[in-house]
Amino acid sequence: MCGPTVYGRIHVGNARPFVVFSIVKRFLVHEGYRVVFVSNITDVNDKIYAAAREASRPSDELAKQMIAFYVADTDRLGLGRPDFEPLASEAIDGMVGLIGRLIEGGHAYTVDGDVYFRVRSYPEYGELSHRDVDQMDQGEGVEGADRKHDPLDFALWKAQKPGEDTAWDAPWGRGRPGWHIECSAMAEAILGVELDIHGGGSDLIFPHHENEAAQTRAARGAPLARLWVHNGMVRLQEAKMAKSVGNIFLLHEALDVFGRDALIMYFCQGHYRQPIEFDDERLEQARASVRRVRDAARGLVAGGASPPWSAGLKETFFSALAEDFNTPAALASVFEWVREANRARPGTVGSADLAEMLGVLALENLLSEGAPEAPPRVRELARGREAARQARDWGEADRLREELRSLGWEVRDSPGGPELLPLP
Ligand SMILES: [Zn+2]
Repeated sequence: MCGPTVYGRIHVGNARPFVVFSIVKRFLVHEGYRVVFVSNITDVNDKIYAAAREASRPSDELAKQMIAFYVADTDRLGLGRPDFEPLASEAIDGMVGLIGRLIEGGHAYTVDGDVYFRVRSYPEYGELSHRDVDQMDQGEGVEGADRKHDPLDFALWKAQKPGEDTAWDAPWGRGRPGWHIECSAMAEAILGVELDIHGGGSDLIFPHHENEAAQTRAARGAPLARLWVHNGMVRLQEAKMAKSVGNIFLLHEALDVFGRDALIMYFCQGHYRQPIEFDDERLEQARASVRRVRDAARGLVAGGASPPWSAGLKETFFSALAEDFNTPAALASVFEWVREANRARPGTVGSADLAEMLGVLALENLLSEGAPEAPPRVRELARGREAARQARDWGEADRLREELRSLGWEVRDSPGGPELLPLP
């Protein structure tokens, strides 16, 4: 999977492929496959140079800090880490080797220390994104336009420019890799070519993945990947967020406000290939779904064998995932299961099958925890309300109570102090 380009904190859109492919891995492991999940980190890139320049900081220092944020933020999703998270800056040798091979084979050429891929030397170009080569724009703008033999060609290596503070030596001159070659080399170093599944956001199909595929095939004579799997975009539409919530787009803020359970549920409610809106309605639906499972869990026998009616629902759950990873259809089986269990006498239904299903979605914790802990932002608002009450600022206390309600939490004043309860 193509992971982030580390020039800022990641937003919920960047989190989607991390969630989708982490859960795909869980499903494949459940089905008995041995899975090696590699998620690339792009830490050498024009966007990083630009952000570092703006902040007057060394670009490698900025990238290191953003990698640490990325790891900390995604850790909070509770999905574990990918098996490998290679950094572009540590895979330069492989990139130089791959570029050298392309030059030897006549698929690439050097101009003033730059190296470009000769797109028309590779007749299959366009087969991944199904575009006509004459309609393509590499998105490199005027950069290198006067040096490219053909506007269609794209950069494999860029000679060091003034203001760029990282560079590596290569036979054709000092500089740094282009974005596309980074991923081809990082994937190959760990998995070899012809890996089973290459994932990433649908915004990467062209030019990024088209170029990765062309480079590897042209250099190695074998496809980079057997299967390309792309997740749809998250649509961040400001107008649809409640005023009290504000525009929560960064992953760490979304985790503070909604908590990881609701966020994982939110992502599972959408089919991975479709775009999804990030808005109140869908997050509220996710929160309600989390509550339904938690409420049902109280009446279940933890870990006990599930009744005969459960087998069919478990089967439809796993068939839905086997059919192009249809998580919304799989969730429908989960809620059918919950409805059945709620009809039974409390304490008579074992949770084993439900736990197995939720485990694949990384939501098995909903069965084992007591009262859910409120997300950090909710606790902070509750502390603010308590302080307002102590200061006899009733207007502010009421305002904060309403804000808490809009986030799905009720604050109740008990003799032991204020208590937070999820709204029914
Ligand atoms: Zn990539």
